[in-house]
Amino acid sequence: MGLDDSVLTVRGIGPKKAQLLEKLPIRTLRDALECYPRDYEDRTHIVPIRDLQDGQKGLICAVVGTQPVLRRIRKGMDITKLRAFDSSGTIEITYYNNRYAAALLREGEEYLFYGRVQGSGSRRMMVSPASEHILPGMRPPTRIVPIYPLTSGVTQKDLEKVTAAALEECGGGFSDPLPAALCRKYDLIGLKEAFRCIHRPQSLDEVAQARRRMVFEELFLLCCGLQRLKERRIEEPGLVFDRGTPEAFWAQLPFPPTGAQRRAAEEIWRDVRSGKPMNRLVQGDVGSGKTVLAAVLCDLAVQNGYQAAIMAPTEILAAQHLESLGPIFSRMGMRCELLSGSMTAAQKRACKARIASGETQIVIGTHALIQKDVVFARLGAVVADEQHRFGVAQRADLRQKGVTPHTLVMSATPIPRTLALILYGDLDVSVIDELPPGRQPVDTFAVGEKMRQRIYAFIEKQIADGGQVYVVCPLVEEGELPLKSAEEHGAALKRVLPHRRVGILHGRMKAAEKDVVMNAFAAGELDILVATTVIEVGVNVPNACLMVIEDADRFGLSQLHQLRGRVGRGSRKSYCICFGADKGEQARQRLKILCGTNDGFEIAKADLAQRGPGDFFGKRQHGLPMLKVADLAGDLQLMQCAREEAEALLHDDPALAGYPLLRERVDRMFRADSGEIFN
Ligand code: ADP
Ligand code: MG
Repeated sequence: MGLDDSVLTVRGIGPKKAQLLEKLPIRTLRDALECYPRDYEDRTHIVPIRDLQDGQKGLICAVVGTQPVLRRIRKGMDITKLRAFDSSGTIEITYYNNRYAAALLREGEEYLFYGRVQGSGSRRMMVSPASEHILPGMRPPTRIVPIYPLTSGVTQKDLEKVTAAALEECGGGFSDPLPAALCRKYDLIGLKEAFRCIHRPQSLDEVAQARRRMVFEELFLLCCGLQRLKERRIEEPGLVFDRGTPEAFWAQLPFPPTGAQRRAAEEIWRDVRSGKPMNRLVQGDVGSGKTVLAAVLCDLAVQNGYQAAIMAPTEILAAQHLESLGPIFSRMGMRCELLSGSMTAAQKRACKARIASGETQIVIGTHALIQKDVVFARLGAVVADEQHRFGVAQRADLRQKGVTPHTLVMSATPIPRTLALILYGDLDVSVIDELPPGRQPVDTFAVGEKMRQRIYAFIEKQIADGGQVYVVCPLVEEGELPLKSAEEHGAALKRVLPHRRVGILHGRMKAAEKDVVMNAFAAGELDILVATTVIEVGVNVPNACLMVIEDADRFGLSQLHQLRGRVGRGSRKSYCICFGADKGEQARQRLKILCGTNDGFEIAKADLAQRGPGDFFGKRQHGLPMLKVADLAGDLQLMQCAREEAEALLHDDPALAGYPLLRERVDRMFRADSGEIFN
C-alpha cells in the first residue's frame, strides 16, 4: 500500500463511500492527509458538572444514573432522556431521534460526555452529546478531536478511518520536501509529525506547531515557484536599450518629476540596460503619477528602435492614456496610436498593418493587443496598467509566445511591502510613495440614511458651482438583499434633481454603450454619473469633485480608496461621501479609517488586518496558486523568512536539482491552479 492508493484500500470503505469522499475531494490516502480539520474540539479537560456553563461546550466524566427513557413527542420525533452524575452534581442527557446513541448507554457505567450545555443548577442538560465508554479501572480517554469538513453521507468517523489509515501508511518514513536545515533553523516539526499533529493532536499546542510548519511549507513552495520564474527570466537574454536617459525624457514633461517618479525611472532604466528582460511592478497610490513611467519605458524602447505597447484594462482607460500621453509622444516625434475595439474592421486592419510594418511605434489598447492577430515588427516593451487583473499564468503566457519584451506592470492597489514581495514574487517592485505637489486631500465623510436629503442638497450645490458628481452603487448580484442598483438609483436621482443631467453606467451595458456615457461625462455633458464599480479603475475627469458611495459598507476599504481617487484630480476642492455609517458598529469603524487618512498604504494595511487576504484580494484576484493554510496577513514574519530562504536556495540551485521532492511539489502547486507554467 502507498499514499497514492485509493481510499478503497481502507478496511470499511466501500465503493459507495469512496464515491462520496470524492466530493471532499478525497480519492487517495494522500488526499486524506491533506484534508485538514476545519476545527478542533478540546476534549482533554474534564469539567465537574457543577462548573458547566450555560451555553458552552464541555466535557464531563459521569455515571449514567437512570435507564434511558424513550418518549415519542410527535410523529417522526422521539426523545430519549436519562440522568447522569459525578461527584459534583447531576445533569440530564437528551437525544432527539437517536435511540441508537442512547441504547449504548448502560445504567451504572461511566462515560465521557461532550456537548453543549443548556440551563444551570438542577435543570442543567446536555443535548445529543458525543459519548465514550470508560472501561472500569481505565483512565478516561480524553483527546483533542479533529472536526473535518463533511459532505452528505460522510461522517467524522469515516474521516477518522481514512486519516488513520493514511497516517499508518506514512508511518515508515516519509520524505519531507522542506530541507532539513530549514526545519532545524526555524524549529519546524517534520512533515510526518505535522500530519500526526494535524489529525491526532495531543494538545492544541501541537495543532499550532503543525500549522506553523504547514504555513511555512506552503509559503516556501510558493516563493520557490515564483523565484524559479524569476531566475529563469534572468537567464534569458533581454533586449539592451542603451540609448536615451530618463533625464532627457523629463526635459520634455510639462512638470518636474517627483522624487519617487525619478527613482522608479532610474530603476527601469537600469533594468533595460542590464541585458535581462525587465519584469517590474510599479506600485503607487491613485494619482501618484504612474502613467509617466509608462511613457519613460516607451520612450526608451522607441529610441532604441523598438515598439512599445500599453495595455489598459478597459477601452475607456486606453483612450485616456492616449489623451494624456499622445501629446507628449508626438512632441517627441513618436508615432503613437490607439487600437480600439470600437474601430471599424477596416480601421483595425489598417492600424494592425502599421503595427506590423513598424510604422506605429507606440500602440495603446486593451489586452487584445498581445493576442495572436496583432503582429509587431519589433516589440520591445509592454506596459500593463492595473496589474491585479493580470495573473502569474498570464505573465508566463506572454513569455511562452516567444516574446521577451521588457514588461512593466502598474498597480494602484497598495500592498504592504512584505506582502507585495510574495504576491509579486516573480517581479521586481518599485514603490511610488509620494504624490505630485499641490494635491489636496479629499475630505471624506461617512453618513447614514437620515442625512440623505442634505446630501442631495450638497450634490445640487456642487453642480451649481460647476462641478461634476459620481454616485457609485455596489454590484447587485441576482437574488441578493435589496441594495441600490445603479439603474434604480439613477432613476431616483433624476426625480430628485430633475433639471440635472444624469448618466447611468452598469455592468450589463455593452462596451460601446459604456464608452458613450463615460465620454459624455468626461466632456462635461453630464452632471452626475451613476455607476457600479466599472469606474473604479483609473478614469480621469479633473472636473469631478464629489464622489458619493452608496452602501459603502459593502466595499473593501482599498476599493473605497480607489473610488475616492476619482475625485480631487483637478483644482476643485473635492469630497467623498460614504453612505452606510448606520449599518452597525463594524461598518462605522471601517469607514472611520477611510475618513481619517488619504494614504492608500495605511488603508491597505488596515483593510488587510480587518478582512484577511482572502477578501482583500477577492477570489483569486492575485492570480497566485491557491493557498490552503497560509493566512497571508497573519503570517507576515514567517512569510518574510520563507521568501528569504527560497531566494537563497534557488540562488544556489536554480533548477532545484538537489531537491527533487521539493521541485515536484512546487510544480504541482503551480500546475494545479494555472496550467503548466514550468515546462
Ligand atoms: P496614477 O498613478 O493614478 O495612474 P496618473 O499618472 O494618472 O496617476 O497621474 C495623475 C495626475 O497627476 C495626472 O493628471 C498627471 O498629469 C499628474 N502628474 C503626474 N506626475 C506629476 C508631477 N510630477 N507633477 C505634477 N503633476 C503630475
Ligand atoms: Mg493610472
